[in-house]
Amino acid sequence: MQFDSELDLSRGKVELPIFLPVATRGFVKAVPMQKINDIGIKALISNSVHLTVSPGLEILEKTKGINGYTGFKGSYFTDSGGFQILREELVKIEKDGILFRDRKSGKKVKVTPEISSEIQGKIRSDVAMMLDDCPPYGAEETRYSLSVKRTFEWGKIFSTMKVPNQKRFGIIQGGFDADLRRESARLMSSLEFDGFAIGGLKIGEPKELTDMVLNKTLPLIPKEFPIYLMGVGDPLSIVEYSDAGIGVFDSTYPTRNARHGFVLTNEGSINLKNAKHSIDFEPIENGCSCETCTYYSKTKLRELYKNEDPSFQYLATVHNLDFMQRFMESVRNDREKAREIAKKFSKLNYSESHNDNIG
Ligand SMILES: [Zn+2]
Repeated sequence: MQFDSELDLSRGKVELPIFLPVATRGFVKAVPMQKINDIGIKALISNSVHLTVSPGLEILEKTKGINGYTGFKGSYFTDSGGFQILREELVKIEKDGILFRDRKSGKKVKVTPEISSEIQGKIRSDVAMMLDDCPPYGAEETRYSLSVKRTFEWGKIFSTMKVPNQKRFGIIQGGFDADLRRESARLMSSLEFDGFAIGGLKIGEPKELTDMVLNKTLPLIPKEFPIYLMGVGDPLSIVEYSDAGIGVFDSTYPTRNARHGFVLTNEGSINLKNAKHSIDFEPIENGCSCETCTYYSKTKLRELYKNEDPSFQYLATVHNLDFMQRFMESVRNDREKAREIAKKFSKLNYSESHNDNIG
């Protein structure tokens, strides 16, 4: 691993590699904040554009930032929203920024690097991601090369707008061309950032391309900087890419799968909807001390799911977050064990994303 094993944030140090559960508007879906704190989660990822729409900056300023609003004791990372270009929230990408449309309210928000900096400053997240231009998979070569130039221009502005107690990460683009990736890594690491994300990956490309880009890009980032692979967080990928030097992961993997009836264990994932759990009085995972495994058998959970009881989402998510905490502990301190656990996971059916607004 090439990064320092810790990231020093205003609310304390976090050990790397770290997994960030997704809290698009500040909260993790289905689980109250007190429980998130109790589980010991040290950092979450939220979306600064979504936070601007709801609860809105007026409220976040009154609460002296997002932690005052949500009650989370750990650190927030905030995304600038660049990744949303891949989704329908985008209205238009312009030379100086991105015009977003919120799906729910229809409200339009224009985000430039200056505005993104200002928004994330008011949110008071511990780590702010720069606004980047992230073209979809399969775009023309010229589109990728434009995104490298544009992301650099935006990075120049964003990196100089410092906010006290906030770290700022640059984002490396360049599509699936090794030269463009090298160029972007060179340009971005010439700017004053505290860490870097590898953007525009895991957007539908085959794994060989993801790996090629990481192989070409990672050695070009100076060793002292933490590297964030956005939107990736299944156990297999975490083990593989943390070996390659990635220190920060995020994904809806544990939370969205939980809501769809998939729970994670050291023996792989379990589909609670499966008929074989109809009479199964064992907990999801023996030896797990989470609230769900303490009080609920798989039979009970399956019934709650079938009856669409709202408590199911809470219970399944609590276990999956507890699992991720334990799994990341192994990734940091017992690589062999982490590797053994990761092997038990094959890809689940639900797509990953770091936007938990859907599904
Ligand atoms: Zn459990």
